[in-house]
Amino acid sequence: MDKTSTQTPVKGRFAPSPTGRMHLGNVYTALLSWLSAKAAGGTWLLRIEDLDPQRSKYEFARQIEDDLHWLGLDWDEGGLDGHGPNGPYSQSRRHDIYMEYFGRLRDSGLTYPCFCTRADIMATQAPHLSDGRVVYAGTCRPAVMPSHDEEPARPHATRLYVPDESITFTDMIYGPQSVNLARECGDFVLRRADGAWAYQLAVVVDDALMGVTEVMRGNDLLQSAAQQIYLYRLLGFKAPRFGHLPLLCNAEGRRLSKRDSSLGMDELRRRHSPDDIIGMAAAAAGLIPHPVPTTPAELTATFSIKTIKTEFQINLL
Ligand code: GLU
Repeated sequence: MDKTSTQTPVKGRFAPSPTGRMHLGNVYTALLSWLSAKAAGGTWLLRIEDLDPQRSKYEFARQIEDDLHWLGLDWDEGGLDGHGPNGPYSQSRRHDIYMEYFGRLRDSGLTYPCFCTRADIMATQAPHLSDGRVVYAGTCRPAVMPSHDEEPARPHATRLYVPDESITFTDMIYGPQSVNLARECGDFVLRRADGAWAYQLAVVVDDALMGVTEVMRGNDLLQSAAQQIYLYRLLGFKAPRFGHLPLLCNAEGRRLSKRDSSLGMDELRRRHSPDDIIGMAAAAAGLIPHPVPTTPAELTATFSIKTIKTEFQINLL
């Protein structure tokens, strides 16, 4: 453990996108980030990541809060009522804040306008990574960094230049990581052509301004941590510690999704008590040997991040 982590109180967070009802996989992520913060005597924050205006619904956010309360996963700061000193805690209400930090990057000449459509990007010879993501080929990247007063009138996304440089960090669960920004990420979008803020910019600005010291989330975002660490550096913020969790899989070995309705909170709440569900999530993580009823508070006594299993599969119940 490094010096700062023993001095700064831990602040963890859960940052769901309100695009549907939670399932056991989301409960598991919420539980582990809650436990990691609480076992260290820290606090836990809830942020609503409703950046996507088409897919985010207030009703889903309300339902997520209700499910968390019912499970005994209470937050010290944030949520829809926005209690705490660092609000608002819904991303849809933070436009002016993102604009300010985006403006700093743009005014420093670190961004450029991009006119490529999705089809253009898919049609280029950009390297296709093994997980299906495409590294932007740099079609709109100017040879000379543009001056910010040349903002074009026609609709465009805004991308960040990334250098041919590797970002290294130690993940709390997966250990040492090294990600080359140019080869594995490419120049990434900060603001979409429709004006919506990109997740990468919003998550960094929010975690930094909200004082988050520990980010625990699914391992589908492991590589994003490199892009985020780079943004922390450009904006002059201290990066938090990252811990990425293996994703829960269904009986066919596929990542849980909304289609696995038997593991959705609607069905789970009909058939089980909160303690049953916490027990299932804790057993899936390897915190307890068998899924027996338990509470988040009981699990704090023995919680150790080292016991989290990185390879597992749970059977449909
Ligand atoms: N909002 C993201 C999601 O629900 C999580 C982002 C994060 O934890 O950094 O998948």
